[in-house]
Amino acid sequence: MLKTSGLRVATRALSPTSGFLHFTHTLNPYVGCQYGCRFCYVRGLTPHRVRTNLTGEDWGTYVEAKVNAAELLRKEMRSLRRRGKPVSIFFSSATDPYQGTEALFNITRQCLEVLAEEPADAIVLQTRSPLVARDTDLFQRVPNLLVSITIETDDDDIRRRFAPRAPRLEKRHAAISEVKAAGVPTQVAAAPMLPCEPERFVDWILETNADRYVVDTFTSGKGNYCRRSIAFGVPEILEEAGYSEWWGNEKGREVFAFLVDRVGPERVFWSSDGFNEPTAEQGEAAACDAAFSEATPSAT
Ligand code: SF4
Repeated sequence: MLKTSGLRVATRALSPTSGFLHFTHTLNPYVGCQYGCRFCYVRGLTPHRVRTNLTGEDWGTYVEAKVNAAELLRKEMRSLRRRGKPVSIFFSSATDPYQGTEALFNITRQCLEVLAEEPADAIVLQTRSPLVARDTDLFQRVPNLLVSITIETDDDDIRRRFAPRAPRLEKRHAAISEVKAAGVPTQVAAAPMLPCEPERFVDWILETNADRYVVDTFTSGKGNYCRRSIAFGVPEILEEAGYSEWWGNEKGREVFAFLVDRVGPERVFWSSDGFNEPTAEQGEAAACDAAFSEATPSAT
């Protein structure tokens, strides 16, 4: 439940990345996220851990709107362009740009207005919220934009176990279908992949007619991602729900294979950056197994 929401005067809009998903910058219009997903890696990051320790606020109970984000973004985009720098933006990495608070503050919309006039080389707008469809008209004016919505299962009972305050799946499905129907490039991200009946799930998400599909699992990211999932109790939640076999990459691979079978490999991507070299993937899986054993010494 959202307990605090407020305003923040930010010092910058764009955060340079160190290779995060191959983007040069991230853009987070809010601090905090009212969806408070149980597996969210953001709550494990230092600023949020410090805040939780100092104020006792749990992840998912506070949101602050960066009221000057659009103004800063315009200045930063112009400065980067003047210096001939590339700009590719992941929007957002540490909040949901279309959580309910956006209906009140419109910070995401204001930033997109800027990006319509000061184009980036690439923008991925990532959300779980059906509010995204509100801005369909604007998306048509933003160059190099991909609108990506998370649909990680087709079962709302499963969704409630992991992300009880995130929007219902049907609504997300309808929203991305609407955005796509308006001619905007779209993506469905099954990330992190949650339990479902794989073939039925694939048939359902293909009804959105999205341009791209991504499958990611709790264990296919980098080592820390897997460790955090373990620390947040993901294996236990899966076990309680009777879906232990969804820990690991095998079930996600099944979904991936159905997608490839239906639409071909060009539109289907695995894990956070789309593709993994087989050797890298094996390395990540081994690291994850090791982390799991380390975290749960009796689980062998
Ligand atoms: S919607 Fe995204 S940022 Fe928000 S809590 Fe869930 S995973 Fe974290």
